[in-house]
Amino acid sequence: MAEIVKINDDTWRFEDDSVRFFLLCGKDKAALVDSGMNTPNAREMAEKLTDLPLILINTHADPDHISGNGAFKEVYMSPAEEENYRHFGGKGTILPVKEGDVIDLGGRSLQIIDIPGHTPGSIAILDEKYRVLISGDSVEDGNIFMFGHGRDIDLYIKSMKHLTDYDGRYDEVYAMHGTIPVKPDILPKLIEGAEAIRQGRASATKVNVFGNEVNLYKFSYAGFLCDI
Ligand SMILES: [Zn+2]
Repeated sequence: MAEIVKINDDTWRFEDDSVRFFLLCGKDKAALVDSGMNTPNAREMAEKLTDLPLILINTHADPDHISGNGAFKEVYMSPAEEENYRHFGGKGTILPVKEGDVIDLGGRSLQIIDIPGHTPGSIAILDEKYRVLISGDSVEDGNIFMFGHGRDIDLYIKSMKHLTDYDGRYDEVYAMHGTIPVKPDILPKLIEGAEAIRQGRASATKVNVFGNEVNLYKFSYAGFLCDI
């Protein structure tokens, strides 16, 4: 069962072992952002915190982010993520979102930013009211999974550079893994690290992750798990 931590009067985080997800409330609607790894009752837990109509948004569809999706008929997600979502058994109708779309919760608008790379349809969400960027798994200080089907480090670098267009519009980053919050100055470091990996300038150690032998590139600010 996920542990609930209140961030402010209309924001909560749910700590679900090594992953987290969020409940954001506006005046008219509430949004669950992801639904965890071991929390099939995420909806029920969220509805104990708010009476507002509840929508679900996924930053991406890796299995540690969709455990409670089954309680929703519809989910906002990038259409580029659908294959990944269905592969992991994801159900329901996908309500497609893309760069520039705004989901208005009533006095709290959530702007969608496309950041493919970690997965084909990864998105970040800019919560303008609180000047927070919800970054999924793409901007974090833990180990970012970049090996296996659908991961693309070149696209990741491009997306992280695109994200710099939003510099100055948020003060904190809420990631789904690692420390919360992290400071926005991690973004240029991640770009530098990913470019160093891509250009063969970084050194790795071999580690085993879920039966896969992969390269861990560990920097002072974060790590990347890669098959290159
Ligand atoms: Zn994850």
